[in-house]
Amino acid sequence: MSSPTIALLQELIRNRCVNDGTPDSGHEWRSVQTLADFFGKAGTVVEPHPGRQSVVYRLPGSDPEAPALTLLPHLDVVPVTEDGWSHDPFGAEIVDGFVWGRGAVDMLNLTAAMAVVFKRYLDGDAPPLPGDLIFAAVADEEAGGALGAGHLVKEHWDLVHCDYLLTEIATPGFATDDGMTLPVTVAEKGPAWRSLRSKGTPSHGSQPYGTDNALVGIAEAITRLAASPTQVDISPSWIAFITKIGLPRDLVVRLTDPDLIDGAIDDIEDPDFARWVHACTHLTVSPTLMRSGEKQNTIPDVAKASLDVRVTPGQDQASVDDMFRKALGPTLYDEIEIIDDLDFPANESSTNTVLWDAIDEAANELTGAATLVPMLTPVLTDARFFRLKGVTAYGVGLFEQDIAFAEVLSMFHGNNERVGVASVELTTRMMEETLAAYGRRTGKRR
Ligand SMILES: [Zn+2]
Repeated sequence: MSSPTIALLQELIRNRCVNDGTPDSGHEWRSVQTLADFFGKAGTVVEPHPGRQSVVYRLPGSDPEAPALTLLPHLDVVPVTEDGWSHDPFGAEIVDGFVWGRGAVDMLNLTAAMAVVFKRYLDGDAPPLPGDLIFAAVADEEAGGALGAGHLVKEHWDLVHCDYLLTEIATPGFATDDGMTLPVTVAEKGPAWRSLRSKGTPSHGSQPYGTDNALVGIAEAITRLAASPTQVDISPSWIAFITKIGLPRDLVVRLTDPDLIDGAIDDIEDPDFARWVHACTHLTVSPTLMRSGEKQNTIPDVAKASLDVRVTPGQDQASVDDMFRKALGPTLYDEIEIIDDLDFPANESSTNTVLWDAIDEAANELTGAATLVPMLTPVLTDARFFRLKGVTAYGVGLFEQDIAFAEVLSMFHGNNERVGVASVELTTRMMEETLAAYGRRTGKRR
């Protein structure tokens, strides 16, 4: 009774490819094996570190001039806090119509759907596409992709080169008075990760008066950065998104005005949605790590803190420097060393493409009438490696209206991650129809 997509999704969840950020975690080889069994055929396996396997299957098209399309799902998932779950996070149980488990929405639902649709092309059950069709299931997305998509793009471009790409993230649509609005992820923010380091003078903790304590300086800097307002970016694509998801008119007006948006976000009742709106429109600063001292009775001479900073497509490193200077004030800004840990530009794909039109056709076919809206995501995905190579990359799926947009977002890396069985089937059909429409459209052009 279980469909191939559901069965595969369950197996991928049970494989427990948990990426905790260390090179020896992940164990994606298990799911590469699952896929080889599913396809009845091994692909090209790339393994930059023992156990960290990605696998590529490349089907040549009939027309070498036609554009190539890559399906790029990831195989790894993030760790769980078991106490917070109502069901076994690696059991993949089906309860009340939902598949429960880590990875159910991020992104093993899409991984399974893409594999099921790709198999039809692999087996010759679907008319071949004019251009190459590539299925690349990758390791290490959850720790930045250096052992997965980043490695493939850098070292094995011959295997995965393409013009178009489908990957995460997929979210439910919005029911509006004008019908359904379906977000398609077209852009993502860029990480501008920074660390702060302060120096002091070591001395005895029993006599703090007048001492130079490195931890106090860092704590002050973190407090100021966390409390400081950050630059707003109301981009044309933000306006296109927020105006089409069925929000009250007056709220939309405020959410598209840089001077009113912060107050408007305060008025949003759903905290998950408020957080998303804030992140999509602001430079964000999250202090995440802090370390100082060796002993409880010694005043530390070095302290270090790290921050997850992210910029929108309209912002860059200069925006970050400017924000830090203003937030810290002249004295602290001069005293504290600021270290650049990672800079990757925000990136965006155009919607004026044959793949966008194919998604639009598929969404209309399956929902009657859907309006696509381009969406920015504040999280990092593997799409960024490809966008920097000039590839057009989107994330899309199709969900039943059983869980709201913001709740699904909160399941990414959160507790009680689950996906509706019907949604998995819909996403599979969406993938199938999108590829079929893309095939017709890329064929017509030749
Ligand atoms: Zn993901």
